[in-house]
Amino acid sequence: MIVDIHVHTKMGSSDSLIEAEELAGWAAQKGLGGVCITEHDCRYAQEVAQLARGDGVLWISGIEVRTNLGDILAFGLDGYRTEWADAEELKRAAEKVGALLVAAHPFRRDFSPVGYGGSLFFKPTITLGEACRRPIFQLVDGMEVMNGGSTEDEVEFCFRVSERLGLLGLAGSDAHSLKTVGSCVTIFERPLKDEGDFLEELQGGRFHVEDRRSQIFGTRG
Ligand SMILES: [Zn+2]
Repeated sequence: MIVDIHVHTKMGSSDSLIEAEELAGWAAQKGLGGVCITEHDCRYAQEVAQLARGDGVLWISGIEVRTNLGDILAFGLDGYRTEWADAEELKRAAEKVGALLVAAHPFRRDFSPVGYGGSLFFKPTITLGEACRRPIFQLVDGMEVMNGGSTEDEVEFCFRVSERLGLLGLAGSDAHSLKTVGSCVTIFERPLKDEGDFLEELQGGRFHVEDRRSQIFGTRG
């Protein structure tokens, strides 16, 4: 079952162009079995539940929390509190209810472009060791190894970090416009009927990730 774990709509993200109602029809057409709405620092549980159209798409309301240690996707929390801007507070809240925390695009600002033989590469400005020692990774269960905005080099680096730290490696589009929804996806081995299934299958590692940008846009990265 194909799930985009990271989508923003106009409901709660002023930087998104996506109308939630439009997205509701679009998701099934694009073959998505589930969509997580992860607005910035807010959660719209009721509104997200109402997006269901009886077409089998599972709608999950998560949050993308801006914390002192970086952006963290949270699944399984039942609201939003401003004190979660402190990542340790967010972790305490998540532990209480069994919520799952995922570092969103953790190295977005750690790559610089390098031209070589007419090609453009992106080089990390930190070492793998430095990356693994970042405090955020002490608090999260997983990280986004693929994000709709990440380059191929960044994806490879993320995989190495997640493997070294034994963190779950997820993928989401981070879509702010309709055409990018589903560009990077997490594919579950089993069908999911609700948020409980989603959390359980993630924790069990019964999924893999896929970059579909080449299918959608004809290029990758
Ligand atoms: Zn985002």
